[in-house]
Amino acid sequence: MATKQDDFTDKFSYLSVKTQSGMSTNSEINSIWLIPYSFKCGYSFQCPLTFKQLIDRQLSQKYFHELLLVTEQNHKIYDFHMRLRSQGHYGLAVDFIFNNAEDQSGPVKSEICNWCDMNNQLSKLNLIKQNPTTCIWFDAQLKNKLIITPQRHIERLSEMTEEEMKQFWKDTKVALDEEGCDWQSMTLNHGKYRKQFHLCMKINIDQHQWNQCIKKKYEEKIKQIQDLLKCNEHDPIETHSTDRKLNKWSEMRNDKIKGKTCTN
Ligand SMILES: [Zn+2]
Repeated sequence: MATKQDDFTDKFSYLSVKTQSGMSTNSEINSIWLIPYSFKCGYSFQCPLTFKQLIDRQLSQKYFHELLLVTEQNHKIYDFHMRLRSQGHYGLAVDFIFNNAEDQSGPVKSEICNWCDMNNQLSKLNLIKQNPTTCIWFDAQLKNKLIITPQRHIERLSEMTEEEMKQFWKDTKVALDEEGCDWQSMTLNHGKYRKQFHLCMKINIDQHQWNQCIKKKYEEKIKQIQDLLKCNEHDPIETHSTDRKLNKWSEMRNDKIKGKTCTN
């Protein structure tokens, strides 16, 4: 009986042949990096290059574009939690978790998109840096993670143009370099796995590095955010003219991840 792994590998062989028979843009991406290995919650790709090497060699856009082709076009999987894991000197693992999509509730419709609407105090405080096509933010719960969003309202990584995607990964690396910290994992939710419509990537930072680099540098900013959120908690009847957006941020802040360990 064919296993799920065989299924993935069979579907891959089509791509592999195509890749080897002259898709010149992929000449530097080894087809082995595009083989999905099945695990309990989905599948995983192994890349021997580190995240930094992929960007320095200008392969990041090509590589992630290929992984999305395998997932969205070959396997027709559109609801997934995508997770990049640093493997140190051994490179990068990219997981796609999709087996518990039915348990996910998806984003809640709202008139206001938190990442597009900049007209309130909390958004301004949460914003760390605005690039031409991306923004870097604090996490709404002030956890040890940075958030990067495309400035354009898009919902999937595959909706980015080639140039936007190149810039997205480059801006991520620049932000980490500027803040002087390393990353542990990066996650992007798609389809039902999302809590919001606008695409966002969470960059998880080691707690010690977070305390050493970010907390010190942004001490004043973090205190202002905490004060504003506390103020909102104590005053649910919106006497603050900072508007509905503030409440929306608070909802995100209070949102508890439902106990599905695969995506934690
Ligand atoms: Zn938006």
